[in-house]
Amino acid sequence: MDKSDIIIIGGGHAGVEAAAAAAKMGCKVLLVTHKISTIGQMSCNPAIGGIGKSHLVREVDALGGLMAQAADEAGIHFRTLNLTKGPAVRATRAQTDRILYKRAIKNILRKTPNLKIMEAAVEDLITKNNKIKGVITSCGKTIWAGRVVLTTGTFLGGVMHTGFQQKPGGRAGDPPSTKLAAKLRSMPFRTGRLKTGTPPRLDGKSLDYKKFTTQPGDLPTPSLSYRHKKIKRPKQINCFITRTNPNTHDIIRSSLDESPLYTGTIKGSGPRYCPSIEDKVVRFSDKESHQIFVEPEGLTTTEIYPNGISTSLPAATQEKLVQSIRGFEKAKITKYGYAIEYDYFDPRDLQHTLETKHLEGLYFAGQINGTTGYEEAAAQGILAGINAALGIKGAPPWVPQRHEAYMGVLVDDLISLGTKEPYRMFTSRAEYRLILREDNADMRLMSKGRELGLVDDLSWKDHLQKKKESEREVERLKRTTLIPGSREAGGLEIKTKEKIRTQKSLYEILKRPKIYYLDLPGARALPKNTIDEIEAGVKYLGYVVRQEEEIRKQKKNEETPIPDSLNFKNVIGLSNEARQKLIESKPSNIARAARLPGITPAAISLLLVHLNRG
Ligand code: FAD
Repeated sequence: MDKSDIIIIGGGHAGVEAAAAAAKMGCKVLLVTHKISTIGQMSCNPAIGGIGKSHLVREVDALGGLMAQAADEAGIHFRTLNLTKGPAVRATRAQTDRILYKRAIKNILRKTPNLKIMEAAVEDLITKNNKIKGVITSCGKTIWAGRVVLTTGTFLGGVMHTGFQQKPGGRAGDPPSTKLAAKLRSMPFRTGRLKTGTPPRLDGKSLDYKKFTTQPGDLPTPSLSYRHKKIKRPKQINCFITRTNPNTHDIIRSSLDESPLYTGTIKGSGPRYCPSIEDKVVRFSDKESHQIFVEPEGLTTTEIYPNGISTSLPAATQEKLVQSIRGFEKAKITKYGYAIEYDYFDPRDLQHTLETKHLEGLYFAGQINGTTGYEEAAAQGILAGINAALGIKGAPPWVPQRHEAYMGVLVDDLISLGTKEPYRMFTSRAEYRLILREDNADMRLMSKGRELGLVDDLSWKDHLQKKKESEREVERLKRTTLIPGSREAGGLEIKTKEKIRTQKSLYEILKRPKIYYLDLPGARALPKNTIDEIEAGVKYLGYVVRQEEEIRKQKKNEETPIPDSLNFKNVIGLSNEARQKLIESKPSNIARAARLPGITPAAISLLLVHLNRG
């Protein structure tokens, strides 16, 4: 009999993290995916990270995940975004070589113990007494398992649109999952349709680079993984920038009757913050131009990803609009852009562990939960994998809280609020963002990763070393004082144009806005990550302390449970709207109830009175 502890369906960004995490935790894991060759494939731009997203990538890395390591191994252009802004919103972004990325993911999986990979399509789920028991593949093979994690991305009921043409598909070159979608629709999950899109790809040899603005990567090359010291980096190359113009916009406006978005063919909602070029031209009609990042797809291909012109207009119109853009006048399209509509499941039907409420042992992770983005998928994947493994072991689940990780924010937002449009991560979604910085994800989560069995000995040793080093350095800054009139003080005065009048510790001086760690006398050549962490810890201590105080207050609400059995209809004084929201979302504690839109402090007081009455 074929039996595994855990089956992961889908080898995308959620699936690979779920599979590796559960296997590292000692479970017998089977990853079933359509094609082994597409494991770790990036359906859209081969880029990892960016604002809000790199925070998730670093958290996945701190828990021993794959994404950051693969991005560092495959990255051909790295930048730190928001460098001039505060550390809470600073973010790392890597343009990667898509072939190297897939290779890196597969190499890590190959070395993961307890993990088997099978090339097949899962078409059915075996259930008994509201519990998952296994899966059936397209060739009729039955595989039994105690837990199943579904990470099928945009494949469930996927339909691709280019102009008036529609084609079933999970993404270009891949079939949709129709039978599995039908099976899931027959279950008591709330479902909806969402859409996303991708731009045409261009042959880099047909572009006029002289007409673009060059955007070199940062030096020294930043990294996403905490294990970057051991990673061999590929050659770094430039990206470029160009723009649309009024002519491009005229072409788009005059073709809207050919766009499935505007003819009503596409019903699903698209990502608000990553709109198609048709959407941008219509929604921001006063703008004469939109930026396009001209990004290489890899080191061994001349294919270019023009980031910013995602479209589902017909092929001929795509050619016209592309060739109206500066530097693209002679551009050859290698692949046409398209939009894709797919099924997603209302994440309010999940628990915070990502296990479904209706079927014990079945977990959903990634794009099927209404999110968009590789990073959001990876974060859910690792959480689902961890909790599936804990479930197999009979251990209590683990879910990071909102003040511990962006992963906690992501899952809590999805499960408490649901989503009507593709959900992507932003730093503004986190209420404690000075605590949840990308530089300190390891300090926040690596010890948990180690406890779960996800962090290897070497990475753990490095982490402890880094922690010791940064604590020692902060101590030195506190102990070392700067004497007014000394040579060192003079140097800093020139830099800040501010006089140092009294004797001060380097720690106090680092709090000044224009002073950075490397400006200080005796600064050591520490890794960038450590420096970022020291600087943020010193400069923002006051805010961090205030946020910690808020977290302590909030904890009381989190520790006030709302029993599953509570009938919100019996809570006296609640408005109909509040009652409806509470019935729909069934929050498990007062803090979660308070975050629901439409739930006022008055409604929370009524709930507390009701709970206190017992
Ligand atoms: P995927 O990466 O899609 O992986 C799903 C995996 O499941 C695949 O390997 C598939 O073969 C496998 N699978 C599916 N069904 C079965 C089955 N029945 N049996 C076995 N295996 C199965 N994100 C952005 O952030 N920005 C963008 O601009 C953007 N544009 C996109 C454009 C397009 C056209 C598409 C398709 C996606 C886009 N995305 C974008 C989304 C991004 O690709 C996804 O968010 C991310 O890949 C989701 O990861 P996932 O693991 O959930 O699913």
